Amino acid sequence: MTPPAASDASALPAALPTRSTAEWRALDAAHALHPFTDYKALAAEGSRIITRADGVYLWDSEGTRILDGMAGLWCVNAGYGRRELVDAAARQMTALPYYNLFFKTATPPAIELARKLVELTPAGLNHVFFTNSGSEANDTVIRMVRQYWALEDQPERRVIIGRHNGYHGSTVAATAMGGMGAMRRQGGLPLPDFEHIREPNRLRYGPDQSPEDFGRAAAGWLEEAIQAIGPGRVAAFIGEPIQGAGGLIVPPPGYWAEIQRICANHGILLIADEVICGFGRTGRWFGSQTFDIRPDIMTLAKGLSSGYLPIAAVMVGDRVSRTLIDKGGEFIHGFTYSGHPTACAVALENISILEREGLVDRVREDIGPFLMERLEGLRDHPLVGEVRGKGLMAGVELIRDKDQHSFFAPVGRVGTRCRDHCFSNNVVIRAVEDTMVMAPPLIITRDQIETMVDTLARALDRTQRDLP
Ligand code: PLP
Repeated sequence: MTPPAASDASALPAALPTRSTAEWRALDAAHALHPFTDYKALAAEGSRIITRADGVYLWDSEGTRILDGMAGLWCVNAGYGRRELVDAAARQMTALPYYNLFFKTATPPAIELARKLVELTPAGLNHVFFTNSGSEANDTVIRMVRQYWALEDQPERRVIIGRHNGYHGSTVAATAMGGMGAMRRQGGLPLPDFEHIREPNRLRYGPDQSPEDFGRAAAGWLEEAIQAIGPGRVAAFIGEPIQGAGGLIVPPPGYWAEIQRICANHGILLIADEVICGFGRTGRWFGSQTFDIRPDIMTLAKGLSSGYLPIAAVMVGDRVSRTLIDKGGEFIHGFTYSGHPTACAVALENISILEREGLVDRVREDIGPFLMERLEGLRDHPLVGEVRGKGLMAGVELIRDKDQHSFFAPVGRVGTRCRDHCFSNNVVIRAVEDTMVMAPPLIITRDQIETMVDTLARALDRTQRDLP
């Protein structure tokens, strides 16, 4: 019997055995239950095994180079292959690989990172609670917000209002707070005290309105919900500055200003989920700065460490922290790895890279506008209903018939087809239902953007030819 062909394993750590792609696929299918995956489909098709990465490129186990137009899961902002981050981790692991922040202990990396995050985020967010993932950060917010209102002698304020198709993570509570219909239907969710309003998706809900009129109308849905629930029961409103996983929904002009006004009017806390928008994605450090939002609480993850290690954070504004500190006693909440020193050291070095290389300004002034300009060129394609985005975060929504304003059914089938055409041409572009989504590393060059957009254009042509 001839042995299976060896795969491209040149970059694997020595501890891993060398296997063929077929062997990896078989083992993967036999043992791994992947996140957000149809297991039967995966077993039938097998996974593409990713073995190494550099800059904006991934390589699979066959040695094929793939342009990562999604920066992993919207997280590798500084790009792959950053030696500085490896060195920062090694230095910290040598000095102190682990200690925690429980029971009145602290570590220098966690202290320094907290200080740096306070410096970068909008004024008034002066305290940080560390977690390991965006989901945990948002879970923490739920407990913190309820604790805040209990300490303020208004324990009946428990309802958190989110938005349809808002994504805040995959723990039980974060799923309940999020507005992803299919997720909430599994596992006996939703939970009580989470309500949702429509997201400000003009293509769906207000195509005949001006962006300004639609922005006012969409924010008005929050006022209606508050009145229906009862203002005295509402604890907080949560939203992503730009809704990411829910279809790349860019807020219309005036939307966030009106949301801010409504929250202030009712004394409701405003929470910005910056897990995707943070760390330069929209062309400012945070989406809240891009859209002039002044949140009481902000959650961060992903770009905080460019995904090199898991770390996330809750930025807490003075209104909430004062109550927690002055009236709170013990906040009975935390994770073994909250403020993990190695993850904090990597996050600090990652922020320093973004600063040193001016990557955030580059997104705002150069490469973000270039991506949008190139995508605008697809607007006349018969499948393209809308092109939208900000910074290096863009979506191209597909539509069945532009004149009749009709969408594809079942939703997502055509988008998935288009995504598969991109992937088989070695470019990662994600399909959120029928919206093609891009969020590449912030270091992407103009040439690489041309490649990404040209590949999408060809995939759109092929998808159109595939339509029945
Ligand atoms: N919030 C937003 C806006 C996200 O996009 C995500 C993940 O994609 C999360 C929260 C959850 O983060 P994590 O997957 O790190 O738990």
